[in-house]
This record gives sequence, C-alpha cells and structure tokens, in this order.
Amino acid sequence: MIESSLLITGSIAIDTIETPEDRRENVLGGSVTYALIAAHRYVPCHVVGIIGTDFPKEGKDLYQSLASNLSDLQEVPGATFSWGGRYLDNWDDRETLFTDLGVFGDFKPLLCEENKEVKTVLLANIHPELQNSIIDQSEADIFILDTMNLWINTTRPQLEDVLKKTNILLLNESEAELLTNHSDPQKAGTELLNYGPEKVIVKLGSEGALFISETDPIRIGAYPVEKIVDPTGAGDVFAGAFSGILAAGGNEVEAIIQASALASICVEGFGAEKILNCSVEDVTDRINYLQSILEL
Ligand code: AMP
Repeated sequence: MIESSLLITGSIAIDTIETPEDRRENVLGGSVTYALIAAHRYVPCHVVGIIGTDFPKEGKDLYQSLASNLSDLQEVPGATFSWGGRYLDNWDDRETLFTDLGVFGDFKPLLCEENKEVKTVLLANIHPELQNSIIDQSEADIFILDTMNLWINTTRPQLEDVLKKTNILLLNESEAELLTNHSDPQKAGTELLNYGPEKVIVKLGSEGALFISETDPIRIGAYPVEKIVDPTGAGDVFAGAFSGILAAGGNEVEAIIQASALASICVEGFGAEKILNCSVEDVTDRINYLQSILEL
C-alpha cells in the first residue's frame, strides 16, 4: 500500500502564450506539468496522461526527473495536446485562441495496480469524463478536483457527476459563480458543498483564497506580486502544491498557504521557468508572510 504519494492526472501540453508584453510558442505546459512541478516538492508523484511522438526531449527529461512513477504515461503516434491563450490588458482575463486535442482525443486512461492504490488523487484540469474514469478505477481516499469554465459550460452533467465523488474542490470565483449563480464567493462555496465535496477552496486571485467546510470559512491572503510576467499555470501550481501537502499529511490551511506562495512565484516567470528554478528561501519568505497575515 502506498500511503504518502500523489496520483496526478490532467493535460500535458505544448502551449502558445500571448501576454500584453510577449508571445512565445512551444512552451511546455498542461495542468499536469505545472501541478507536478509544485507537488514533487512534497511527495512522490505518479503521473497519468498522454503525449504524442512530437513531445520534446526536454519535456520527457523533466517528467523523468520530477515524477517517481510514469507507468501510466502513454506515448502514442500523433500530436501532443496543444493550447493557445491570450491575456487581455488587465492580465486577468484570458481568451483561448485554440485547443487541439491531438492524442487526447482517443485517450483511455488505464491505471496499473500500483496506481490504483495511491491514496490521494489530484484530478487536474481535463475533460470530466477522463476524471471520472480515473475515479472509477482508483481506490483512493481523497479526490481533489480542479476544473475550468470550458467544462462548466460544455459538459456540466459529466462535471456534476465528478463533483458527487469529489472530496475537495478547487476553483476560482468566476467558476464558482458560473456553477452556482452566486457572485459572492462565500455563498457560492457554501452552496457547492451541496454538489458533493466536503471542502471547497475558492481562489480569489490577488485577494487570496477562501476555505469553506462545515465549520466557519477561513480567509487566506495572497502574496503581493510586484510584476506579473505570465499567469499561465498558477491555478495548476496551486492545485499541485495543495494536493502534495495533503498527501504528505498536512492540513488544508497549511496547504493553501504554501500553494498560494508557489502560485505567486509561478506568475512571475514565463510558463514554468520561474517555478522550476525558485529558491527555497524565496518560497519560505512568502510562506512566512502569508502566515503572518493569517487571521484565525
Ligand atoms: P491555468 O493557467 O492554471 O488555467 O493552466 C493553464 C494550462 O492549462 C495550460 O498549460 C494549458 O495547456 C492547460 N489547458 C488549457 N485549456 C485546457 C483544457 N481545456 N483542458 C486541459 N488543460 C487545458
């Protein structure tokens, strides 16, 4: 039995990213990539996903170095999932330029015996049917779910099915409003407890995050980022760090603080460049700051 490890599933992608100040192609991305970079700091990570034969060697090397189990990472003929996004001048709103499913179109995740036994699973952002397929095969105790507006708008019944089997839901305030019609994040989060999860974390961007459970809500602040370079992946880094800490035995508040600290580093670099190379001191300083402003 594997107690302290994390199974991560979601997208593995080649991104094209446009910000108000820069444009880059062939950036290694996807929800699993960012989540793995964050989570591997805390626990051994097992990856479930798919790549095409065009997936670059640097990407494969990164996965080899960060993941402790790649048995369920499939490589098949075809193109890796690719996504293009453009940030508007406020750096917050993002439009999707294209989503090419490539090899994800026919992906049938199949968990090996060892991966079925991993006790904590992060269902990072991907089609809810794939998330559901992992839940059905897994014997985990905790399922943590991340999703996005696309799935709320296009596959709501499948997403609601996943929510019923989810223990902890992570989403941002606009996604929470889209699901519940409540613009107030606390009301939206509380209502989402009726959809299945026992705990909901509503991310509030530069305002921090709200942790909602059966007891009183807890507000966690955000680290004041001086200069945003590229917001891509911040949500996945948050999800990866949060899940890694829970899998390692930490509590939710501690996990949100560390997740916020890492997400604030992610947005300060293009793609994953800064989060891959950040120093322990930088992470620790940000955690200390967030702990110092915590109101309990
Ligand atoms: P975030 O900025 O945290 O929302 O995550 C951005 C990452 O999500 C990018 O690297 C994309 O490759 C990936 N992504 C974008 N759209 C999708 C989608 N529909 N399904 C799965 N992953 C996606």
